[in-house]
Amino acid sequence: MQWEVVIGLETHTQLATRSKIFSGASTAFGAAPNTQASPVDLALPGVLPVMNRQAVEFAIRLGLAVGAQVVRRSVFARKNYFYPDLPKGYQISQYEIPVVAGGSLDVVWEEGGETRSRTVRLTRAHLEEDAGKSLHEDFHGMSGIDLNRAGTPLLEIVSEPDMRSAREAVAYARALHDLVMWLGICDGNMQEGSFRCDANVSVRPVGQEAYGTRCEIKNLNSFRFLERAIDFEVRRQIELIQDGGRVVQETRLYDSDRDETRSMRSKEDAQDYRYFPDPDLPALAIDEAWIETVRGGLPELPTAMRQRFEGEYSLSPYDSQMLTSSRQQADYFEQSVRALAALLPPADEAARQTQAKSLANWVMADLAAALNRDGLSIGQAPVGATLLARLVARILDGTVSGKIARDLFAALWLTPGAPDEAVDREIDARGLRQISDSSAIGTLVDEVLAANPRSVDEFRAGKEKAFNALVGQVMKASRGKANPQAVNDLLRSRLGG
Ligand code: ADP
Ligand code: MG
Repeated sequence: MQWEVVIGLETHTQLATRSKIFSGASTAFGAAPNTQASPVDLALPGVLPVMNRQAVEFAIRLGLAVGAQVVRRSVFARKNYFYPDLPKGYQISQYEIPVVAGGSLDVVWEEGGETRSRTVRLTRAHLEEDAGKSLHEDFHGMSGIDLNRAGTPLLEIVSEPDMRSAREAVAYARALHDLVMWLGICDGNMQEGSFRCDANVSVRPVGQEAYGTRCEIKNLNSFRFLERAIDFEVRRQIELIQDGGRVVQETRLYDSDRDETRSMRSKEDAQDYRYFPDPDLPALAIDEAWIETVRGGLPELPTAMRQRFEGEYSLSPYDSQMLTSSRQQADYFEQSVRALAALLPPADEAARQTQAKSLANWVMADLAAALNRDGLSIGQAPVGATLLARLVARILDGTVSGKIARDLFAALWLTPGAPDEAVDREIDARGLRQISDSSAIGTLVDEVLAANPRSVDEFRAGKEKAFNALVGQVMKASRGKANPQAVNDLLRSRLGG
């Protein structure tokens, strides 16, 4: 039997407001327990919640960015349950009428050696408050409650069950993560819990229309855990069914130490929560003028930018997606493209695209690897956009080889703040100019041929490998500076073909 995996994600994004969703207490992370909980967060008698305007504005931003409907009159409800970290005995959330309805997110990912894409539909996004936190360690042998997080604004973004693999789900989560950071509505810090996913997973025989019974894996706070938890859960469900069992709808937890999911509780129904409209909060009214003001303040969105990159620079959908994973990276790339075009005005469209493609490769490979290695964000890169453009210009105009450029890049990385001219200065100071002059290369070729008669004989006997060895010898003799194409050409002509 062939199985199809079905996944829908519910994502809690913590909105980057300074104060809480219904109180004036600070949302800053890391304060001493219970120092940032106001009477509203503590649910003292007689207090009333007041809606945070910034949180609503952030929800509108998200709604506009995903092409959703921003609902003009949404309603807050009480979701009732008992838990030590929930002092009111209910969570204020939106239930029947959320602030954002519909919308979609374009996702591009690589799987099975090919690039895939899908437009994942969004069901809704609603505003709600976060709960506090139970502290089970370091508390005089007892558990404690920290209510600093209580009342932190969350936007829960719910997808349709459109995803068909763990990799796709991760790609969706990444795209959403990139988007909320792009919009400036969430700091994206997963370790601090600013972005957490619940994964709903089911399986069905290929060809079957009806969905299978789903399990929900709660609170996955890293992309790796999200992928592993789904993979485990899919295997578990398939094995269970194949052994004659039935999947029961339940809430499960992922244990990263044992790399497995475990049952936490049977799934509660909406009726268990006894939702009802919160009488303390009026309906949330959003007028056209507010929406238009927010729309006017939106930056160019990643989807639009991605399409522009594909058209303007002929980059592949995958490259465009990678480059637009953050605004800083997309800006760095475009700044370097402009700087390079100023240094070497491209003769035609093809030359312009070559420049963009070279820079895209540098940004996605060498730059990304160096940033990753040093744990830096692109804003902290010791090699800035115009410096990189200068370096790439020296490859494209034949001054240095790609390999030498890589060495230079590594050297420049260690001298933060170097001016663009440092590229040319280093090339001259270290004598790195590529040798394209055929008489100079010819001398090297002759020396290498004279010193390696065996390789010459092997090549004449038909061994192509021997030719490569000779090229390598000449490159080495030139200390990497000879133009490889010129070396190839000269060797071939000396060896007679
Ligand atoms: P709840 O709020 O009770 O968790 P919802 O009906 O709002 O339930 O669905 C939550 C999530 O579950 C959504 O992301 C939805 O796409 C997903 N989902 C619903 N049915 C399935 C299914 N059979 N398999 C996988 N995911 C599903
Ligand atoms: Mg759910």
